[in-house]
Amino acid sequence: MSRIAYVNGRYLPMRDAKVHIEDRGYQFGDGVYEVCEVREGRIVDERRHMARLVRSLGELRIRTPMSLAALGIVLREVLARNRIGYGIVYLQITRGVARRDHAFPPPQVAPSIVVTARGLNQARNAALAGNGIAVISVPDNRWGRVDIKTIGLLPNVLARQTAIDRGARDAWFVDRDGTVTEGASSNAWIITQAGTVVTHPADHAILRGITRAVLFDAIKARGLAVEERAFTLEEAYAAREAFVTAATQIVLPVVSIDGRRIGDGKPGPIATALRAEFHRYAEVG
Ligand code: PLP
Repeated sequence: MSRIAYVNGRYLPMRDAKVHIEDRGYQFGDGVYEVCEVREGRIVDERRHMARLVRSLGELRIRTPMSLAALGIVLREVLARNRIGYGIVYLQITRGVARRDHAFPPPQVAPSIVVTARGLNQARNAALAGNGIAVISVPDNRWGRVDIKTIGLLPNVLARQTAIDRGARDAWFVDRDGTVTEGASSNAWIITQAGTVVTHPADHAILRGITRAVLFDAIKARGLAVEERAFTLEEAYAAREAFVTAATQIVLPVVSIDGRRIGDGKPGPIATALRAEFHRYAEVG
């Protein structure tokens, strides 16, 4: 079965799903995206993802090209046409197609919309979480507005590849103050020896993860102390547990950072429990 993508009003087989070479996403990375988890064919936390999408579009002054209700119908249609049970749905909106010029095109230029979906292997994801992952640290050399979910991901791409080249799974960005901001495609968390769960505040230096937001409810329900504050790499090395969150992988325990074992080098009990409990707190549409 050929995968089907939605491109600017049409559902097309992947091989025919194309955008113009002067699309501003292609030329400038001038666009935004969202990724939602799909379980039993249903979209997890759609409302929050769409709210973040609208915010990202607003920050870049890209017009919201269709109502959120219509967008929801497109997302579901793509899922149905690709028969996705467990997987992800990807949505990208760019500033549209116009002759190449850095300045915004005239207002009548319509934004471009692409939606794709793919299945994920649930057993493989569970095995990954069961083993835990290794991360490395890299300098955070991104621009100052990574709270906007733009498709301009070159530093993230390079960081992830550096991680893979060094035999790790993810990279944690560290800013000039020695503070861990977030992962290359995830939010970064530690649990201190005192048992406090710590993650970077949701300012302009990180993406305000939807998984991150929902996890606060799970953490509070467990009665755990939680702090949104900057933590250093040194503090992370000395943590009792560490983990990352993202819509595609929910909670993934981190068992080493820069080759140093975290805790006893096995997935931590709290991270593992939070992963198991997460979907009690997520919205499913
Ligand atoms: N931070 C970055 C840089 C990301 O790319 C992502 C997800 O792709 C996240 C954090 C986690 O966000 P969410 O939980 O909404 O998937």
